[in-house]
Amino acid sequence: MRGFLDPYDKSLNLYSRELTKSELSSAKVKSITDDMKRIANGKRDKEHPNRPTLAGLSAPQIGERLRIILVDIAADPSVSNFKPELVIFINPRVIETSKTETAEREGCYSTGEICGKVFRPGQVTIEALNEDGDKLLYKSKNSFESHIIQHEIDHLDGVRFPSRVRSPKHLHRVNPDDFQKYREGWRTWNKYYPFDQWLKMYDGEKIQDSKFARIVPKNYQCFIETLPGSSMWRHLYVTNQNGDEIDVTENGNKSCAYMVSSVLYIFKLIDEPHATVKTTLEHMVEAGWEKVNKPTKGAIVRWEQHMGFYLDNDFVISNNSDEGFVTRHGLIMNDGRRPLEFYIHPTIE
Ligand SMILES: [Zn+2]
Repeated sequence: MRGFLDPYDKSLNLYSRELTKSELSSAKVKSITDDMKRIANGKRDKEHPNRPTLAGLSAPQIGERLRIILVDIAADPSVSNFKPELVIFINPRVIETSKTETAEREGCYSTGEICGKVFRPGQVTIEALNEDGDKLLYKSKNSFESHIIQHEIDHLDGVRFPSRVRSPKHLHRVNPDDFQKYREGWRTWNKYYPFDQWLKMYDGEKIQDSKFARIVPKNYQCFIETLPGSSMWRHLYVTNQNGDEIDVTENGNKSCAYMVSSVLYIFKLIDEPHATVKTTLEHMVEAGWEKVNKPTKGAIVRWEQHMGFYLDNDFVISNNSDEGFVTRHGLIMNDGRRPLEFYIHPTIE
């Protein structure tokens, strides 16, 4: 089953080739057109449960660089609740366009949150093959449909609509929840999508949503320093086979692993919080923690039946079983237990 390529996939910028006559009846092409119809039909919105959200789709958008497009030839924004009519055009070629251009709103599953106001000829005639391989001429019936057809044929040439936009104010940012709003309000939309960010998308370069980047190792180390005194991990309730609730950390007596794994979880250094030293260590290794001989700040220390964080100068931080809260103490425990292992993660080195 095919699906949409990520908008940052650079193969969306490549040219798609024509299909040969013999390919038309092949099982592969049938499965591509079936997938295109399935995808076009499967995306509906709440207001129009019977109408496909997709007015158009092209094969390269779902990873097949072949000249196949799908167009809802019934799509007409001036008619509410029109009945969709999805048509496949193979090897489509524009043979005539009107001199007059029209502006329409365009959006695309291959440009993420980018929508925009695009000028194109308001009428287009194409020559193409249908699914049976018969040649046909098709003329758009309205400006919106003319845009859809040209938008989809553009995909076959590796062109996405933001490259056709003529003013920075015509490139709009629309989050998926606002899509319905955009249908009505696109002409006066004032949330803009920076053109250089579109160019980065085109180049396949993902950008952070903020200009700030978190300094993970420093935040992790600062976080550990603030732990002493906390009794946050005193209780961890689970139900047993009989449905009884049990506090597996026994009022802070056995909270060391729960405390360590919870902190690692906050920094995405383990899959989830765990209750025991054994399961915490197993999942730490899965998450990329490695044994080392010499600990550095933030390393994990394991003693017999206990674990904690290495701080510095042979000081550590761990949950104190007797007190039920986190304390700072020496590397060698009061009862004489010595550290058995140290673990470090590449992210916090
Ligand atoms: Zn598109």
